[in-house]
Amino acid sequence: MLDYFCRTRMFCVTIAALILSTAAWAQNSSAPPPAAVSPQPPAEPTRADLLRGAYGPLRANNDLLSYHLDIRVDPERKFISGKNTIRFKMLQDGSRIQLDLNEALKIDKIQLGTADLKYERDSGAVFVDFPEALRSGRVYAIDFYYSGNPVESGRFGSITFRKDSSGHAWINTACEELGASVWWPNKDQWRDEVENMEISVAIPNDLVDVSNGKFVGKTDLGDGYTRWDWLVQYPINNYDVSLNIGNYQHFSDQLGKLPLDFYALPEDLDKARKQFAQAKGMLEAYQHYFGEYPFEKDGYKLIQVPYSGMEHQSAVTYGNHFANGYLERDWTGVGISPRFDFIIIHESGHEWFGNSLSAADRSDMWIHEGWTTYLESLYVEYRWGKADALKYTNGYRAKVKNERPIISERGRNATPPPDQYFKGTLFLNTLRSVVDDDARWWKLIHDFYQHFKYNEQTGMNLTPIFDQYLRHPAIPALELDFSKADGTMAYRWRADEAAFAMPVRIGSQDHWQIIQPTTQWQTMKTPITKDAMEVATDLYYVNVAKK
Ligand SMILES: [Zn+2]
Repeated sequence: MLDYFCRTRMFCVTIAALILSTAAWAQNSSAPPPAAVSPQPPAEPTRADLLRGAYGPLRANNDLLSYHLDIRVDPERKFISGKNTIRFKMLQDGSRIQLDLNEALKIDKIQLGTADLKYERDSGAVFVDFPEALRSGRVYAIDFYYSGNPVESGRFGSITFRKDSSGHAWINTACEELGASVWWPNKDQWRDEVENMEISVAIPNDLVDVSNGKFVGKTDLGDGYTRWDWLVQYPINNYDVSLNIGNYQHFSDQLGKLPLDFYALPEDLDKARKQFAQAKGMLEAYQHYFGEYPFEKDGYKLIQVPYSGMEHQSAVTYGNHFANGYLERDWTGVGISPRFDFIIIHESGHEWFGNSLSAADRSDMWIHEGWTTYLESLYVEYRWGKADALKYTNGYRAKVKNERPIISERGRNATPPPDQYFKGTLFLNTLRSVVDDDARWWKLIHDFYQHFKYNEQTGMNLTPIFDQYLRHPAIPALELDFSKADGTMAYRWRADEAAFAMPVRIGSQDHWQIIQPTTQWQTMKTPITKDAMEVATDLYYVNVAKK
């Protein structure tokens, strides 16, 4: 299905105009980088980046309908072979389409029916040629056969062939950064998603595969291998498609009608039973704010893996040491993070922001990460109240660099800087303070998620505020100029956006007053002196300059 701005059709229309005000809008690594990362200036895009990142005419001429990925995984040889059946509808007449497969993998053949198709490879892109033009409006299915040894690379390895401590094979995928075409052929971009997907994985009989969607069944193939079949009944991003092959033990639970399935290695089963109990409270909190879990028919799964974690749709992967905090640290440094398991709370939050609602281009990845980081604070607020949530969120200030805009250049397959997480949540907290009415804020973010009715709901022009926080490195500075002689104070915003205007609370903790500064000087009488004047910087992510 062709999603212009996000993952499921019902969520897709006007938010673009809104949240990402101008032309651009629909990237990896689910969990924020755990160590301080100094953002690199964006490198000039390579030809491969542009082929992968752009939604060019040979992608735009078709709309994905479904995939059936049907593969065999040989743990000893670290070898994958099989095919992906790709169904799509043509949107224009055309005789060529662009798909993607990493250069390390071999194309065995690509067929339409029984006819072999010609193709041309250019870095990671595969241009498939049809002997005659495919017709607009018609549905076609091609079988893309491939094989080889996929290459481990990137933060989580993309696809890794490991062994657990008892010597069983342990094979996992987490490929948001490099893209799913690092291990299987697909139309590897963010904008267009299939409406559903079958995943069939043949593995040695003694192993278990946990992939996305609903478990359909397993079939003994009689040659030492068993095929595990999974059915994804919702649109899904390519990078969310996941293999988790290992000596997994399974236990289950239920939240209302929603099946909860948990998978851990035998030696960690007791720890998993204890730690994974946090999933229920997480689901309750997010359902409270945003409505029901978006993939009910597929269920919710939490699966132990050897890396920190990833938001694989309906199959969230977990490697946070069965301990609270993030990799055993107090993540925002203010004493709140040790109360909960960061990976369960963060990665699962992506089911709402990232998986069901998603960006169409990596440049807008803050919609996944800024929002999900904000969801962490909503979880804290739901469990422990607003004061703790504010404290938790403001703990992120120390991680913000303000060196590059959160929204990066479109069409380049580039990951925005880590500010997308930290500044993203501080921005949303600021927006809540701008709205300044919690009942309205809860309705707004609920409706934003459900129907994208942002503008109508606030009745404010928030575009310059979004643009300042998302498209410029600097945050707004409130300039306050005191004149002792006549008891007045001049005030204005210093911002890159000329039309920037945002209300803000000033005065003192026990008596805030809301003023409406713009980028033009205004003057007010005040009995408060320069030294005593406070600004509610826990509610608004701004700098203050007094003179
Ligand atoms: Zn994330």
